[in-house]
Formats: sequence, structure tokens, C-alpha cells
Amino acid sequence: MPPPLPKVIWRKLGREQAWGQATINDNLIEIDIRLGAKRQTEVLLHEGLHIAFPEMTEADVDRAGKLLSRLMWSQNYRRVLMDKNNQPPRIS
Ligand SMILES: [Zn+2]
Repeated sequence: MPPPLPKVIWRKLGREQAWGQATINDNLIEIDIRLGAKRQTEVLLHEGLHIAFPEMTEADVDRAGKLLSRLMWSQNYRRVLMDKNNQPPRIS
């Protein structure tokens, strides 16, 4: 079985002084909603890498997050905002 997906919360991060944070013990990612689309992708990947590889150094996580977000962006991957009660279409 694959590990459970982290819960992702989009909110204004104030006191934390960061654009994103991962809480490994809670399997939780929080991302600042004020970020632009490109940086949202980078921060989501960055925090996901922290969860997937807790032993990875900050420098390596940063490097991987930056490269992967640029790669995704270059291939036109974007976040699609869904209505609260809508589910994304299923692709089999
Ligand atoms: Zn980090």
C-alpha cells in the first residue's frame, strides 16, 4: 500500500514566517494562499518532498522542489480551482 497522502491546508501563514510548512508527524502540509500559481507549485512539491524524505537536507529539498516545479510548469501543469462541492473529472 502506498503511504497515506498528506492533508494539505491552504491558508494565510503569518507567525510561521514561511510560505509553506510540513509537519511530518501529522502528515500535514500547509501553504500560504497568497502565493502566485508558480510558487504554489514549488512550495507544494517542496513540502511534499519533506514528507516523503524526512532525512533529506533542506538544500536538497529546495533543489528538487525548484527543478520539479520548473519541469511541471514547462509542461503546462497548472492548479485547477474546483468549486467546493465539485469533484475533478475522473480519468481512468
Ligand atoms: Zn524546506
